[in-house]
Amino acid sequence: MEDNHIYQYSLLNALMDGVCETGISVAKLASKGNQGLGTFSRMDGELLFLDGTVYQLQAEGNVREADESDQIPFAVSTNFVPQQTREVKLKDKDDIDNALNAFNDHSRNLFMTYRINGHFSYLKCRTVRGQEYKGQPLSELGKKQSVETYEDVEGTIIGFRTPKNWQGFGVAGEHLHFIKADKKAGGHVLEVTAEKGVEMQMAIGSNVHVELPTSEDFNAAQLVTDDAGVQAVEG
Ligand SMILES: [Zn+2]
Repeated sequence: MEDNHIYQYSLLNALMDGVCETGISVAKLASKGNQGLGTFSRMDGELLFLDGTVYQLQAEGNVREADESDQIPFAVSTNFVPQQTREVKLKDKDDIDNALNAFNDHSRNLFMTYRINGHFSYLKCRTVRGQEYKGQPLSELGKKQSVETYEDVEGTIIGFRTPKNWQGFGVAGEHLHFIKADKKAGGHVLEVTAEKGVEMQMAIGSNVHVELPTSEDFNAAQLVTDDAGVQAVEG
């Protein structure tokens, strides 16, 4: 992967439709850069890929290192090389958007990738508990997700942002995952506050490689654009 090119496997829309039995291996994702996020087979937890290691963030804040052969039905990754680093204070999640908007005046219609390191005063994270039956849609799983809050924690957030007019395709999306510095907890970020200021590294992405599944499940999916559904479950 060239620096700051974005690789994605499958589409968020397919995940919303519950297409998540199989996918690419952890070893393959690990070859696609140095950071990323996604989910595992049957949507069992959240995936966070950080500097060569793929972590499975599970319900109740548990974390395990994924096996090389674990299957990933949806993921986005990049070989992240920061183009700008800034100290930011986060009142809430919108301040991440504000920092991305301030990157420069032509990033609005480009993809953006970022990494935030430091001390967070508050985080609310969710982890999906996994499907109870094949094809169970993500919108339904969202209602039974595990939600944890953390106060005064050190850690890292990995995030991707899609230009607004692209979101219907289910590429990247507004997506950010957190992992504690000791790698003992983490999840998909719903709320975040960093009163003291954290280091935010950012880069723009103008090359996006999308690999689509060739499975029957994928071809049978409706892939309906469900922005409201995505918003409800991804926060
Ligand atoms: Zn997520």
